[in-house]
Order: sequence, then C-alpha cells, then structure tokens
Amino acid sequence: MSSTAANIGTLDFSTALSVLEKEYRRDGLDVHSLLDSSKRGGLTYNDFLILPGYIGFPASDVTLDSKITKRVSLKLPLVSSPMDTVTEEQMAIFMALLGGVGVIHHNCTAEDQAEMVRKVKKYENGFILDPVVMSPKNTVGDVRAVKEKQGFAGIPITEDGHLHSKLIGIVTMRDIQFHRDNSTALSEVMTTELLTAPEGINLSEANEILRSSKKGKLPIVDQAGNLTALLSRSDLMKNLHFPLASKRPYSKQLLCAAAIGTREDDKARLKKLVEAGLDIVILDSSQGNSMYQVSMIKWIKQEFPGIDVIAGNVVTREQAANLIAAGADGLRIGMGSGSACITQEVMAVGRPQAAAVHSICEFASRFGVPCIADGGIQNVGHIVKGLALGASTVMMGGLLAGTTESPGKYFLSAEGKLVKAYRGMGSIDAMESMKTGDNAATGRYFSEGDKIRVAQGVSGSVLDRGSVTKFVPYLQAGLQHSFQDIGVQSISELQQGVNYGIVRFEIRTVSAQAEGNVHGLHDFNKKLYS
Ligand code: GDP
Ligand code: GDP
Ligand code: 5GP
Repeated sequence: MSSTAANIGTLDFSTALSVLEKEYRRDGLDVHSLLDSSKRGGLTYNDFLILPGYIGFPASDVTLDSKITKRVSLKLPLVSSPMDTVTEEQMAIFMALLGGVGVIHHNCTAEDQAEMVRKVKKYENGFILDPVVMSPKNTVGDVRAVKEKQGFAGIPITEDGHLHSKLIGIVTMRDIQFHRDNSTALSEVMTTELLTAPEGINLSEANEILRSSKKGKLPIVDQAGNLTALLSRSDLMKNLHFPLASKRPYSKQLLCAAAIGTREDDKARLKKLVEAGLDIVILDSSQGNSMYQVSMIKWIKQEFPGIDVIAGNVVTREQAANLIAAGADGLRIGMGSGSACITQEVMAVGRPQAAAVHSICEFASRFGVPCIADGGIQNVGHIVKGLALGASTVMMGGLLAGTTESPGKYFLSAEGKLVKAYRGMGSIDAMESMKTGDNAATGRYFSEGDKIRVAQGVSGSVLDRGSVTKFVPYLQAGLQHSFQDIGVQSISELQQGVNYGIVRFEIRTVSAQAEGNVHGLHDFNKKLYS
C-alpha cells in the first residue's frame, strides 16, 4: 500500500476520491461485471445489493418521474398488473391519482373492460366536454338514475336536453335531496339563477371563478348562451389532494391503460377501449416475440396513432428487437418471475428477472424505448434494483393484490389472517373463470384448441395491505430514501450513475442474504410503515 493511501484519512473528499481512483479499483462491481452471466449465471433481485453513495440532499428532494412509453411520463414509476385479482377501475383510478398507472385486465367482455376504462377517464376532468345534460322535461328520477350509475348529480339543463343548446338551469343533488316524487319534472326543481363563464376562458381562470363563487359547478356557455362545457368543484379538490396524478395535459383526465390479446377479436375490443378514452394499450402475451404481436403492433400504430403500444413480454434482446422494429412504444420485461407463476418450472423457459431487465433495457434505451420490469417485486428494494438496471417503471401484481382497491373481498385464512385472493392469469382457476372464450386474458397462456391445459400459474391469497392510498405513498417514500442512500436525486441520475460505473454493486452470497434479513430474534413484528 502506498503512503498516499495510508494517509487517506487526513485528505479532503475529492482528493480522497482521486487517490482511490488512481490507486485502487473503485469499490464494488460495475453493472456489467455484476451481470456477467458467464461468471455467475443470471441474477435475480435478491442476488445483489447497491453500494451506498454520498448523501448531499434531503430525501424529499428525490423526484421519481419516468417514462412508461415513448410519449407518456409518470411522476411515480409504478404500474399495477393487468390481472383479474389486481386491476379493475378502482385500482386504475387510484394508481393514476397517486402518480402511477393501472392496466385494466381483459379477462372479461370487451364491453365490461371498456366500461371500466370509461369510469377511469370520467373520474377527474378539467373542462368536462361531454357532460350529461338533461331537458326541463326530464324527471327527478332521471337525475337519481345518473347519480346511481355514474356517481354525479350536477346536471345542466338545456332547452333541448343536449350540449350546444341554450342553458336554462342546473340541477344538483341539493335540489332533489328531499324531493320524494321521482316523476316531478326538472323544470320544477332546477335552479335558474346561474353563474356561468364564457367559452374560450382558460382552465385557471375558470377554476378561479369556481373557487370564489362557492358553487359546485360552473357551466361554460358561448355568446348565444348555449352550453359548451362544465367545470366541477370536486375536480379542484381532487387536483389538490393528488398533486402527482397521472393526467392528460389538456383534458386533465386520468391516464388509463388496458391489456388486450393479439387475436382478430382483440381489434374490435381495442376499438371499444379507444372509444372509451384509452391512452395506452398493453399486448398481453407471456412470450411476446410472435408474428401475431408484430402484426398487431403495426395494425394499432396505423389505426390508432394516438395510442401508445406496450409490447411483450420479453426477456432477451432478440425478442425485444423484433417488437421495437415493429413500432412498440414500450416493452414489458419478465417471464416466469411473477409471484404466482410456474412457467420456468413447467416450460423450462424464462430468465431471472435482474438479468432480463438489464439485458433488454440497455438495448432498448438505444432506441428510446422505455421498459417495464414486470414481476417479482416483493419490496421497495426490488423496485430500486429494477430501476437501477434500466427499467423506467415496474409492474406489480401480488404486492398490490391485497389492497382495498383490488377486485374481490377480504376473507379470513385458515390461520385467521385477513387475506384476498390472488391468482396467476395462467392458473387453472383463472382459466376456468374465463368469461369470453377467445377474448379472455387467459388466452395469454391457453389456446381454445388445447385438449389439455398446462397451468403456468397458481392461485392463492395474499395478506391485507390496506389501501393503496397509504401503500403507494409508502413505496414512494421508501424509494426516495433509497435513492438518497445511493446518492442520486432522480431515476435518470441513477441510471446514468450505473451506466458510467459510478453507482456500484455487490454480489450477495447466501449467507449475506441471511445477514441482510432479520436474524437471531426470538420473534418480531415486521410492520413496514406508520
Ligand atoms: P355532483 O356534485 O353530484 O355532480 O358530483 P361531484 O361534483 O361530487 O362529482 C363530479 C365528478 O364527476 C367530477 O370529478 C367530474 O369531473 C366527474 N364527471 C364526469 N363526467 C361528468 C358529467 O357529465 N357531469 C358531472 N356533473 N360530473 C362529471
Ligand atoms: P397542475 O399545476 O399540475 O395542476 O397542472 P397545470 O399547471 O396544467 O394546471 C393548470 C390549471 O389547471 C391550474 O389552475 C390547475 O389547478 C388546474 N387543474 C389541474 N388539474 C385539474 C383538474 O383535474 N380539474 C380542474 N378543474 N382543474 C385542474
Ligand atoms: P408479481 O408482481 O405478482 O410478482 O408478478 C406479476 C406478473 O406475473 C404479472 O404482471 C404477469 O406478467 C405475471 N403473471 C401473471 N399471471 C401469471 C401466470 O399465471 N403465469 C406466469 N408465468 N406469469 C404470470
């Protein structure tokens, strides 16, 4: 050891670093040495750790913006999986409100799936450009029916009951709350003294009128007094409470993604989803590198240029190359790493997730195609590792399945714990629940013609995790603290640090994994957040 190195404790930080650079290899491994599969096989998230860096900022300064597709960015890199025990409209609404996005599953009819998309898109608005409008001849019962089905009762009344007709009143819940007779015409209960704003006003100005007026709704009218749009006070509150929400810039509607298959019928399904307002479509195949997917991507890009297409799943560069060439706006990575999945065991194909994520993300980044690391996420650390290896976002199934917003009801397990059902979409259970034959999501794993269905997933249950409105902010705060430990303030800084060999890694031996987990305690309570 040289004398300079021996004196290192007395040197300032940058000199110390340059001494280290000159005299030693940097501590730990760079990402390529870490993931050199010829040396130690394909790694999973648990096989390595990220070495800490320098903390020069508070954790709250860490931002987590990231792209999910070439054209769409999120403030939080979190996506819920298109599984029928994970994402229906409630999950999709709350994932988007919290800054991520939910992908609505397709193990249902096209109509049901489109209805879910519609609910997500209708949940929050800037200007409501297609508000429900009624005529003075409609009845109190009609308004109650809209409230029951769509959740709102603020209805502008125009002369002919349509948009672009003369505004003559408004009915809200307060006007009908204590009104028993459902057959009463709205002309008798509507409010006719109206505060309106002129067409052409911008959203900030219109919001300001709404704020100062104390009214619940602000109809927008043209010069002739015809209704052209509506503004709702509750949207101001939603915007206030969910500052990270993933929204379309102009409409302020929540982003919505949905999954489809690659069969002929899926084209008609997609049309319905697009009519309902879909933003992103995911082609849901367990092995995405197929002629079906290539031709589906091309068809969608031609038919619906406004929709971003995420293709997959893939685990090798060769698979990815075909889908990128076909025009994919994003890729979904993972085969056999999901918590309810037995593909690797049964089919002998797949790839350890860390190896797959790094290999594909490095390749796809050259073409500006963002990647989702899908499956195998069991904790905050796994999310960080997926991002460090180049993923732009991560997709979770099992981790979100036990939340209030996932489909299904809680029940007590044999041990008396509160749980919810969670099943692989390739499980026999999911297949038997298949509602629409060829259109079902389980087509990802089974073909109708198959005489014997070979399961690629299991069905079971997961523990109650409370609401995603608490759980997702916990994941977010966990990510911010982890990034602070690594010494990076954003996902792009993390990924650049990894690419330049500044962010370093260490292999975790089996005993290192044991050491890194709770050990030696008689018993303990693993509460993750408060
Ligand atoms: P209301 O006062 O009973 O109309 O209901 P809220 O104001 O609590 O909820 C209205 C929510 O539904 C807002 O987020 C609106 O953006 C949304 N929404 C979506 N489409 C419509 C529509 O056609 N009319 C109304 N009134 N709200 C809509
Ligand atoms: P923001 O600052 O992230 O809300 O986004 P913008 O800078 O685009 O906001 C422009 C205006 O739109 C501001 O007055 C926001 O308060 C308002 N805004 C944002 N989201 C919504 C929404 O969902 N509904 C309504 N009515 N206004 C919104
Ligand atoms: P998790 O977050 O639970 O670890 O994994 C979720 C992912 O597992 C899904 O997004 C999907 O890619 C994958 N998956 C879902 N169902 C099945 C299945 O039955 N078999 C396989 N091989 N993968 C599944």
